[in-house]
Amino acid sequence: MEIALRPEVHTYSGGLGVLAGDTARSAADLDLPMVFVTLLSRNGYVRQEVGPQGNQIDLPSPWIPEDWASPLPAMVAVSIEGRSVWVRPWLYVLTCPIGNSLPVLLLDTDLDQNSLEDRQITDRLYGGDEAHRVKQEIVLGIGGALLLRALGFNIRTYHLNEGHAALLALQLLRDTRRPGDVGSPSLYDRASVRERCVFTTHTPVEAGFDRFDYGLVNRLLGDFFGLAELKALAGEDRLNMTRLALNLSGYVNGVARRHAETASGMFPGYQIRSITNGVHVHTWVHANLARLFEARFPHWAHEPEVIALADQIPDGEIWTAHQAAKVELLGVIKERTGTQLQLDVPVIGFARRMTSYKRPNLLFTDLARLKQIARERPFQIVLAGLAHPLDEPGKQIIEELHRHIRDLQDAIPIAFLPEYDMSLARTLVSGADIWLNTPLPPLEASGTSGMKAALNGVLNLSVLDGWWVEACVEGVTGWAIEGTPPGAGDAEALYRKLADVVLPLYQDRARWVWMMKQSISKIGSTFNSQRMMRRYAAEAYMR
Ligand SMILES: *Cc1c(COP(=O)(O)O)cnc(C)c1O
Repeated sequence: MEIALRPEVHTYSGGLGVLAGDTARSAADLDLPMVFVTLLSRNGYVRQEVGPQGNQIDLPSPWIPEDWASPLPAMVAVSIEGRSVWVRPWLYVLTCPIGNSLPVLLLDTDLDQNSLEDRQITDRLYGGDEAHRVKQEIVLGIGGALLLRALGFNIRTYHLNEGHAALLALQLLRDTRRPGDVGSPSLYDRASVRERCVFTTHTPVEAGFDRFDYGLVNRLLGDFFGLAELKALAGEDRLNMTRLALNLSGYVNGVARRHAETASGMFPGYQIRSITNGVHVHTWVHANLARLFEARFPHWAHEPEVIALADQIPDGEIWTAHQAAKVELLGVIKERTGTQLQLDVPVIGFARRMTSYKRPNLLFTDLARLKQIARERPFQIVLAGLAHPLDEPGKQIIEELHRHIRDLQDAIPIAFLPEYDMSLARTLVSGADIWLNTPLPPLEASGTSGMKAALNGVLNLSVLDGWWVEACVEGVTGWAIEGTPPGAGDAEALYRKLADVVLPLYQDRARWVWMMKQSISKIGSTFNSQRMMRRYAAEAYMR
């Protein structure tokens, strides 16, 4: 449903889209014969403004398709509520740093042929009510399948990236029906669809699964597919897009080892493998560090495994590159919030979707304690993140954070940067010193911002969940927050680790830079999307 192609193209909301973008960028680097399909989302997701009390104001976030893509002379119609809704693709050509390119199709219903209402379907990413969401998923899944065919693509494998695209598999299944016969389940060839479909599930959070009322589905999709057969595939009570994708895909994976275990527990009877996420190093490494890589390993963009040797780069060069990135971050903070942070005092960065399970508040559990720690070893904090427009608890968290900023203003400098997006993420993950992550386990499927930070020598301080379970070597690549009991004891564990280990170590420059180099070389060489895409290609696509 979303892909982060570049900051000016607002076809993404957060981590899922950024990962899809990194997937496409690495597929291009590796010259994999792939085409990507998403929605045009003319008015983007949300432009975040934050009012004086910390209240998030949701504004449209338009972009100009004509500036970045071109409409293709092709259209297909999908049937919604018995009407033909026309869908047209725009072509965005993604060109990777080493020069290869691949096509990304952006689906658009804003056409003269459609009614005013239907023209809005691809307007706002994740916008509107449940009916609107089903319509978007009809355009994405069914429209996507029909368009690929109309454009002459001969697709061997379809990768359903999250359940949003699961109706594509249903379209493929429908196509296997022998003409003349209606209704009987045996008339569909599930095995041939499973052979062609790969499904990646991206979250163990229940709210992340689309579940649609069958009455609604029936109203919108009509007789597209027999209800009895659909229920057998997608659940008896409601149409569960995750279950539909699970049943129609021959290869299923979670996005980190821990996540695959959690997902297997949630969906017994399915084999859920794991391919741990990665990030596109060329996109996420700061230009200063990139220059150091380029000078030593000219092939790093194609083969980031060579970053394993980054621990041989002299300390002074790493430190200078990092401090320059930090100056840029401090400049952005000053410009956007008026707050001047100091270069020689460590900066803790926390940028996440603002939602309960990510626990953006955990650091602020005990303000007196936090002040006490800062008196002994000063530090600074930078925060960023959007709440989904309908996530009221998430919006309240942003307000609470602003109260904490006011309450702590004489003790700890803290800045909240609005409009967290790809370009701000780049500044944050290279300019902070410590990257904090405090999700409630096991709800963080993977997380990727910590990989971006690690690649830039920004040290992770994180709860052991998602990807960090695989990457954390205590005191070497970063630090774990391990509460006793896990969850409830996490705030205490965080304060202890910060006061006793992390902040004191910042005073020991040589040791700190040694850890930065361990982080860059061990994590950058492994948790990149090149390795991830080689695994998808070898294990999932070429099965
Ligand atoms: C990388 C990224 C994310 C994902 O971060 P998590 O670690 O999964 O929270 C979200 N939003 C933006 C803009 C990003 O660049």
